[in-house]
Amino acid sequence: MDDESDRVVMVSHCILNQSTRARWGGGGARRDTGILRDVLEMLMDEGVGVIQMDCPEFSLFGNPRRPRTKEGYDTPEFREICSQIAGRTCDRIVAFQKTGPTGVEVVAVLGVEGSPSCGVERTPRILDDEGVDASEPGLLMETLMDEMRRMGIETPIMGMSLREGEGEERLRALKALIIP
Ligand code: SF4
Repeated sequence: MDDESDRVVMVSHCILNQSTRARWGGGGARRDTGILRDVLEMLMDEGVGVIQMDCPEFSLFGNPRRPRTKEGYDTPEFREICSQIAGRTCDRIVAFQKTGPTGVEVVAVLGVEGSPSCGVERTPRILDDEGVDASEPGLLMETLMDEMRRMGIETPIMGMSLREGEGEERLRALKALIIP
């Protein structure tokens, strides 16, 4: 793909719309967007388009919903939703790549660390009866990785983060990818 290609990123739904994040026990949809605001500002400054994927948890359970681990969401019905979102995402990546004479480069897929669905390298699990942050993708990202592999799509997947330290580190990594 040449230097004149347009560029986009595919993002987990709540990077743009926080109201889908799990809410339980009162409280409104207004959330601390933390460093995600910096991620979006950087993308806008660099002229990178942002394409929103669907939120599997909100699609199936809406809000309020009780926060769960990866095991808590792992049902055939939930996997089916993840599979549909992953399929649509891959189809769009392929369609973008074929658009126009130069194509549209999908620079990255951005997930959200700490989510049982959208975590990329940090996902809450129950292991040996204990809640842990496992170094593995959540259900949606896992399904997406499988589908991308199957379709030969090599777009990098990166996890953005609201956690102090991790958030800044991931923003730096994304900047390194976006800003030549
Ligand atoms: S499932 Fe993904 S998109 Fe939905 S609220 Fe969780 S991190 Fe955000």
